[in-house]
Amino acid sequence: MAAIYLLIAALIASSTTHAHRADPLAAAPGLAVSGKLRTDPNATLPASTDFGNITSALPAAVLFPESPADVAELLRAAYSAAAGRRRPSPLITVSLRGRGHSTMGQALAPGGVVVNMQSMGAGPRINVSADGTYVDAGGEQLWIDVLRASLQRGVAPRSWTDYIHLTVGGTLSNAGVSGQTHRHGPQISNVFELDVITGQGEMVTCSKAVNSDLFDAVLGGLGQFGVITRARIAVEPAPARARWVRLVYTDFAVFSADQERLVAARPDGTHGPWSYVEGTAYVNRGLAGALRGAGFFSDADVARIVALAAARNATAVYSIEATLNYGGNATETASSATAAAAASLAGLRFEPGFSFSRDVSYVEFLDRVYGEEVTLDKAGLWRVPHPWLNLFVPSSRIADFDRGVFKGILQTADIAGPLIIYPVNKSKWDGEMSAVTPEGEEEVFYMVALLFSSVANDLALLEAQNRRILRFCDLAGIGYKEYLPHYSVRGDWVRHFAGGWDRFVRRKDKYDPKKLLSPGQGIFTS
Ligand code: FAD
Repeated sequence: MAAIYLLIAALIASSTTHAHRADPLAAAPGLAVSGKLRTDPNATLPASTDFGNITSALPAAVLFPESPADVAELLRAAYSAAAGRRRPSPLITVSLRGRGHSTMGQALAPGGVVVNMQSMGAGPRINVSADGTYVDAGGEQLWIDVLRASLQRGVAPRSWTDYIHLTVGGTLSNAGVSGQTHRHGPQISNVFELDVITGQGEMVTCSKAVNSDLFDAVLGGLGQFGVITRARIAVEPAPARARWVRLVYTDFAVFSADQERLVAARPDGTHGPWSYVEGTAYVNRGLAGALRGAGFFSDADVARIVALAAARNATAVYSIEATLNYGGNATETASSATAAAAASLAGLRFEPGFSFSRDVSYVEFLDRVYGEEVTLDKAGLWRVPHPWLNLFVPSSRIADFDRGVFKGILQTADIAGPLIIYPVNKSKWDGEMSAVTPEGEEEVFYMVALLFSSVANDLALLEAQNRRILRFCDLAGIGYKEYLPHYSVRGDWVRHFAGGWDRFVRRKDKYDPKKLLSPGQGIFTS
């Protein structure tokens, strides 16, 4: 560790001075960045873990940048050190830590430098355009803050994640998926322009029109091609309120058919009234607890749904969750929302009498998971291990997945955490970008998010269960893709990217030829 510490210090110092002093980090007075690098445990320990609480790796140092220029300076120094290094001296890898809300160490830099992106966020780095069509946000900004700043101008981004205390750069490095994805695409489909610092330390502005290869590489690029320091994000007139419904099903085929009906585009390309469509599976043993945990149903509702499941002899219950936004303009009133919702629900086949509705402010809806965070944290259930399994499953195989997983493997499991399942439209994704979707021509695939929490000292059991689920999918030939993937073997990455692997490697060679960026993903460093 000491050797790497000295190496970082030496590389920072070497770009302006050849002096060697007792404190090497102080040896580069000409380099603004040197004073913002810390190697003390108060800096390195928090950067050595993440939300997953499963893996950890200590960095040699943490950079607390005040501006993108600081990050560029670090990368230029790391790049030139790598270019001039004599083997086998180690590389100085650099990881970008948004909120560290990855689950398997994706934002860690074992023995390298972690850039604490949020230390850039002190200044006013969120600006809505004069014409109200986009918002420029620093890559380190939290989506909740982007929302708040946008609302002051009467607009809001249109594509979200379920939890919005995540950074712009962090979600755009993955995709950013939620109930709005079916109509607007993932968050990466809603970006006009980026400022990026490449692995050589160059600051580049890119878009579909200018430097489009870098733009496409970075979106969904798992932090491999550059640091997102600014994103220009599409916005729409902000709704004031959301009509929030849940519909209960005991038959999976009916549930998924209704979901697909709600997300389908009309012949003219427009969508129905629902701004957001998701769903949840509640499996046998945990039915009552999971329904209560959803925070939506009253105790009486839960009792009715449990009785319904018993009467139907159902081993799993499903619920569509959807919102209809209104109040974005004068014609969208509470009564027009009621009428539009009723007309749409009339065509659906949920269990009669089992539709539930609430009316909340738009912010309350978008920030709904934060309330759960506060409750779980108070109960000591938030900072626990999170062996999450996120899969994209083609629509043609989702019934097989239900049979094998919800009605099979998970029937005997003790489950803490939601089992989320909803369809999205592939045509809203951009195949030029790095994000991976299931192969083939099917228009609809499902986001399946099995968000397990280990609350009973059962991490090994849950990880084994995840392996069983994946083995089942593999043996059944379900052409799934993992979302927020983590692999430790190169061959698994090659399989993950499939036909896109060569392009991914070509882009890596071009934008981060020394393989310095985001080592925690384990793609080029494993
Ligand atoms: P980090 O974990 O800090 O970083 C993730 C990766 O991105 C790392 O490789 C890092 O190096 C890289 N990175 C970070 N910042 C930058 C940058 N500025 N430029 C380039 N690369 C960068 N995801 C969804 O899509 N939909 C959801 O509904 C959803 N819900 C979630 C709910 C919770 C409670 C949590 C914890 C996560 C959820 N996620 C969801 C996953 C989330 O999108 C990812 O974990 C994301 O990486 C977290 O963002 P972060 O800012 O903490 O990034």
